[in-house]
Formats: sequence, C-alpha cells, structure tokens
Amino acid sequence: MAIRDGRIAAIGDGLTGGGRTIDARGLAVMPGAIDIHSHSDEAMLVNSALESALHQGVTTVVCGNCGGASAPVLGLAASELERDLARFGLERGWTSYAEYAAAVERNGASINVCSFVGHGTLRMCVMGAEMRAATAGELAAMKALLASALREGAIGMSTGLIYPPSAYGTTDEIVALAAVVAERGGLYASHIRNEGARLLDAVAEGIEIGRRSAVRVQLSHHKASGKPNWGRVKDSTALIVRARADGVDVTADQYPYTASSTGLAVTIPDWAHEGGPLAMVERLRGPLVRRRIRDEEVETCRNWPAIVIARAQHHPEWSGRSVADLAAAAGRDPLEWTCDALVEHDGDIAIVHHSMSEDDVRYVMAKEWIAIGSDSRANAPYGPLSSGKPHPRSYGTFPRVLGRYARDEKVITLEDAVRKMTSLPAARLRLRDRGVLREGARADVVVFDPLRVADRATYDDPHRYPDGMPYVIVNGEVALDGGETTAARAGRFLRLGADAG
Ligand SMILES: [Zn+2]
Repeated sequence: MAIRDGRIAAIGDGLTGGGRTIDARGLAVMPGAIDIHSHSDEAMLVNSALESALHQGVTTVVCGNCGGASAPVLGLAASELERDLARFGLERGWTSYAEYAAAVERNGASINVCSFVGHGTLRMCVMGAEMRAATAGELAAMKALLASALREGAIGMSTGLIYPPSAYGTTDEIVALAAVVAERGGLYASHIRNEGARLLDAVAEGIEIGRRSAVRVQLSHHKASGKPNWGRVKDSTALIVRARADGVDVTADQYPYTASSTGLAVTIPDWAHEGGPLAMVERLRGPLVRRRIRDEEVETCRNWPAIVIARAQHHPEWSGRSVADLAAAAGRDPLEWTCDALVEHDGDIAIVHHSMSEDDVRYVMAKEWIAIGSDSRANAPYGPLSSGKPHPRSYGTFPRVLGRYARDEKVITLEDAVRKMTSLPAARLRLRDRGVLREGARADVVVFDPLRVADRATYDDPHRYPDGMPYVIVNGEVALDGGETTAARAGRFLRLGADAG
C-alpha cells in the first residue's frame, strides 16, 4: 500500500517510492477503527494523544453520546461543562458547536474526532434540568439550536434516556428533534430508556422514533442488564430485525464485556436529579428524601456487591472495591453510604457495574448490524487520565473483539470483526472515504498482528495497552510507531456536510 498526501495512493504488488516504509509482512492491514460510541469529549482536551484509543487502532472517535455533548452549551449546560472541565484545570472557550470544533482543532488530536449534539445538553441549554415536558417555545428553541449545530458539522443527536434531564424528554419531543436530524442526513444515537426489565419497551421507543421522524437510528451499547433479564436480547434483537425488514433504518452497537460503566448517581431515581447534579446533592442531604429514594425501584436494582467504584476524586482507595464492601467496612447501610459518597463528590463518582451475561454478549455480537464501540473515554497510563480503575474497555475493546472473540472463540470471523469496527460504523455515520482500504480513501490505516492481537486491560489492572497493534496511521501520518505514540497530531475534526452525510 502506498500513501501520499493523506490518502491511499495505490494498493498492489511492486509499489516503490521514497519516504518511510513499514514492513507489514506477516501482519494484517485494516482500516483504522471508528469508535462509534466514545466519551472522549473532555479527555481529548486533557491529552491530545488519546492514548488508550490510539493504542487500540482507533483512528476516529465519535463523541457526544448518551445525551451529553460539549456543544452547543448555554445556561446550565455551560455551567455543568465548566465544572467538568475545571476538574482537569481546563476552561470553556466556546458556546456554539463551530467554536467548539475550532477549539478542538487548536488543541490538536492524534486521531479524528466528531460529535453528536446531546439531547440532555440541549434541554439544559433551554430549560435547565426541569422535570417536565418542554413547552412549544422551548421545543422550538431546542430545534433551532440543534439545526445550527448540524449546519456547523455535528453528525447527529444522541439521547441518554436513563440520564436526567434527557430522561425527562417525552417520545414526542425526541421525534420532533430527530426530524431535524433526519432533514440534514444526520444519525440519531440513543442510550435507550431502559436496558433491564423494560428493555423491549425501550427498544420499541427507539424504533418508533425512527419510524415517525424518518431518522436513521443507532441503538447504543445493546445489552440486557440484570440477571432476571438475561436472554432478553433475543427478543430485543428480534424487534430490531423486524423493524429493519419494515424499512426502519435501525442498527446498534456493543462493547465486548459483561460489565457496564456509568455514574453512581444512576442508583438515585430520576425525580431526585431535577435541577441538575448540585440540586440532587442538596436533596440527598435530607433524611426524608433518602427514605423516599429507598422505596423506589431504579434500573440498576442497586445490586451493591456488583457495583464497583471506578473513580472517586477524594477517595482513590475506593477504586476497585464494591459499594457493598465499602459500606460494610464503614458500618453503613449501602444506600446511606452511596448518598454520603455522592454528596461528598458533588454527584460525580464513576462505577463499573457487573450486570450482563457472556451468552448475551456473544449473541448480540454475531448480529451483522452490530458495530463495535468502546463506550469509554480515551485514558492514559500516565497523567491526569490515569486515575482510578476505569472499565478495561477503555484500553481493550477493539483488540478484544479481534483476538478473543474472532480469533480465539470464533464468535465472528476476523473479517467480520474488522467490518464491525470500520466500514459498518463509517456507513452509519456516512463518513466519506474512511473505514475502507481502497485507492483514494483517507489513509487511516492500522497494521496489526492477527496471531498476537489481544486486550491486556483487566478490571483490576485496567491501564494496560493491548498487544499486537504496532502501527496506526492517521490521515497518512504515523501516529503509533512500533507501539510508541509519536508527536503527530494529524487527526481532523470531521463535520457533517464536509466529511459525512
Ligand atoms: Zn450510554
């Protein structure tokens, strides 16, 4: 393969020419992986190398997932983003999507970046975190903000329907917003309203949104959470298959693990989140509120032994221990311990939740319309992104699919594994000239060892790069060279219109 001016110039035998040569004999060459479900929104501003993504062969991350994005931001969305950025000593230098894109470009990135607009973010821009339906005026304001962001290059919209305030949105509201996305050829990605006991209703809602708005739908991190619900992915995938046969353009993605990762605040019911995280924390100080919370069901079912702290800023020693364990050691009731911990951390504690079945993971992976996405931010084994014990998917997702699931366990073929992380997500995003190896395509290229490729990150020891992934080329420049990150920051900010759609 010959690469020139950021594109694949030729593929074939007997190519010669000047410049750098990488000898890939005995190795395999694939298009760079496109992480269709990334949460690197802030991490890429902290460390422009996006280390844990780059080392997995990811050449494009799709941010703004699960209803939360970094732009556009006004009102509560702006102040919440400022709180997040302040944890890394960063300041918000943008309001609009175009300004955000320019800030990312100024900062530089080792790999390509694009983003959805977050539905929760839109709500926070227009109506704070109020637990009610949007008025006609508020809906019009959200539509206008969304349309501007799409014009400025956002690749679609995401919802996070278990996370307030996105969770406060009605199906009708989302249909109205999704129609704006559809008009501009964008994608609608959804962390659906329930991945447990009401999984089928939630998938049906995602499909209904696609049917009514004509938007193309991407159901995020497809799974059945909670032991009583294991096996329901057979029914949920059947719903998707039927909808696809009926002409609804719906697909899904998956990370290859039996644990999820989110915030500890998911153990608190939606109503207690009204007003935003700081308002929730104030509420959690009250014993009456705690009593009411205790009586209410939440999707996680508060399976405390299965909920493990990944990161708590003021208590690094909590990382890797379950809430059940920590509460017992403190002589506290687990829910009381959780409320205290959330109050102490302004609501911001990351968890790993062991909640899925291996059979389900394998069943879902084998569906041909399932793409692979990490559902993680790019971390690094050094610096501010090395804290805690994050979910190992941050470092292992793509090599794990290639090595464990394709090569070793043969759940899918190696070729199909590559497709699920390259041309399939590229097609969903309508990314032009990426996700494929052909003459004229952008030179996002990965050289890997199909015999050795393997994830090394574990729940106990997550900050470990994978094996067998020596070279990553982004827009024609070598970003990972013999397993070492280079100084190249050749990643581009990809925009709907110019690069996709
Ligand atoms: Zn999610």
